Amino acid sequence: MNLILFGPPAAGKGTQAKRLVDGRGMVQLSTGDMLRAAVASGSELGQRVSGIMQRGELVSDDIVVALIEERLPEADAAGGAIFDGFPRTLAQAQALDAMIQRRGAKIDLVVRLKVDDAALMQRIAGRFAESGRADDNPESFKVRLEAYNAQTAPLLPYYRDQGRLAEVDGMGSVDTVAQAIDATLATA
Ligand code: AMP
Repeated sequence: MNLILFGPPAAGKGTQAKRLVDGRGMVQLSTGDMLRAAVASGSELGQRVSGIMQRGELVSDDIVVALIEERLPEADAAGGAIFDGFPRTLAQAQALDAMIQRRGAKIDLVVRLKVDDAALMQRIAGRFAESGRADDNPESFKVRLEAYNAQTAPLLPYYRDQGRLAEVDGMGSVDTVAQAIDATLATA
């Protein structure tokens, strides 16, 4: 099964993806994690994206599509993947559909974690202190949220129109949200 965890920054996508990995043996493909690893390694790619990420802007579609494509054999071997933080633009969503179709598979479900802006601000304020992430600060978070609203949220109709979108209340505790995701997956 191929699943997209969809939602604004700090909605809990990474936390829920990791739980699904532990519980179901699925593979998590997080473009944010891949990009942070590139930055930490000091590679040429890392140097190219580090300023963009620090500001909270999106890196180019070509870069993230290539990162995902490299990792798809791993997803094949595991029988599917959880896409976390990807796709973030319509071009990325279309590229993902094409790559997955070429491999004889499809995106089965997009789970949207719904969290309101006030709750997001509260969550992220807690994270600023301890995260160590260069983009967990008020200025960058504002840009990340704007990027989500302007470039990523418009993907929702793309998936809704295809009947692939499930909405889950992301406001509860980690366990409550996890149960809601499990219930959604059980009916998929
Ligand atoms: P994340 O860990 O998913 O919040 O991603 C952290 C940062 O990496 C984002 O703010 C972007 O700068 C970059 N990034 C991650 N995934 C993508 C993507 N799919 N498209 C463009 N930029 C991305």
